[in-house]
Amino acid sequence: MMEKIISLCKRRGFVYPNSEIYGGFSGFWNYGHYGSILKENIKNLWKQRFVFDREDMFLTDTSIVSSPMVLESSGHISNFGNEIFKIQIGTGEETTTSHLRAETAQGIFTDFKNVVDTHHPKLPFGVAQIGKAFRNEISPRDFIFRSREFEQMEVEYFVREKDWEKYFEMWRGSMLKFLAEVGIKEVKEEELSPEDRAHYSKRTIDFLFDYPFGNRGEVCGLAYRTDFDLKNHKLDYLDEESGERMVPHVIEPSFGVDRSFLAVLCSAYTEDELGGEPRTYLKLPKNIVPVRAAVFPLLKNKPELVNKAREVYAMLKKNPPVGGPNIEFDDNGNIGKRYRRQDEIGTPHCITIDFDTLEDDTVTVRDRDTGEQERVKIGELIAKLKS
Ligand code: ATP
Repeated sequence: MMEKIISLCKRRGFVYPNSEIYGGFSGFWNYGHYGSILKENIKNLWKQRFVFDREDMFLTDTSIVSSPMVLESSGHISNFGNEIFKIQIGTGEETTTSHLRAETAQGIFTDFKNVVDTHHPKLPFGVAQIGKAFRNEISPRDFIFRSREFEQMEVEYFVREKDWEKYFEMWRGSMLKFLAEVGIKEVKEEELSPEDRAHYSKRTIDFLFDYPFGNRGEVCGLAYRTDFDLKNHKLDYLDEESGERMVPHVIEPSFGVDRSFLAVLCSAYTEDELGGEPRTYLKLPKNIVPVRAAVFPLLKNKPELVNKAREVYAMLKKNPPVGGPNIEFDDNGNIGKRYRRQDEIGTPHCITIDFDTLEDDTVTVRDRDTGEQERVKIGELIAKLKS
């Protein structure tokens, strides 16, 4: 099953091995056209749910490299040592050794004072960030599951110590909801024992998915980081109303983008039979699909069909249905081949313009999941795709 998914990812332009023409480079991957769109859609939905739908969240985008003091203070150097990529900054004799970040979180902590000074937020509030992280994994494996360069979507949520359990539960619920919304099926929660938790955590739940390479793997995790990080960076918070000074505690929901992407693909991957033929399709939720609808002229050598199809295509591009602006035009090969290609990309609807269209202004709309086709008036097409 994993082999089939890896092969589909390459064939359809979701994920390519890095530096493939030089034999590949272990632990690094490239996202192709459809992979980049799917990944972007997952990230945008996360931003929507974890930042814009709420009133207590700020967004940030901090740099990958920071002063060497940051990872010293956060305990990463003493606790992870080898796993962190060392880099040289500067040239000649004036060089400084620093590191590529292993999690996006530290940029949020070190900017804590700036966020408070700019926005004067009341507790509880959070800061969210999507960005790259790097770990020098000893054995990168299982496709994009364990790589050396990956992306994270993290929230650091600052609370009063007495409230940590309440907000831990709140974020646990939001994480489960998000996993369900992107179509990740049957997530199992695992409470980590103190020996298995990271050095900064007093409670951690891992959210596990049955990836088809034989064992369960963590898609995302929820940690109670206490006041460990802010204390180590010597940061605190002044309650402007009561005048009370304190170090807030932190709840951290942390998602791996690549592991979410892979779990989405594995959950969506479906094989069935349609019209007596075996087929493969991606049953992706409509709001994250790389292509929302594809428009075909029945025949590519009939200008009247091509022109009409281009008209419908332009209309949909201008009024994209919910779930993404990406509409495709395709006149390559026969209709069967075009359906097969769109099924493997996960396109929910294919629209075909045929000779009847020229007579009665209706088109055929084919449903990805059932393969069923129905005639729809062009004037009702946008409403139909929205339903
Ligand atoms: P694991 O135990 O599987 O190595 P972890 O507990 O070290 O993961 P965290 O430190 O909690 O992971 O990182 C937060 C998230 O970042 C993880 O839930 C995961 O989705 C992602 N992640 C961590 N390491 C990798 C990696 N090497 N490749 C891809 N994603 C990763």
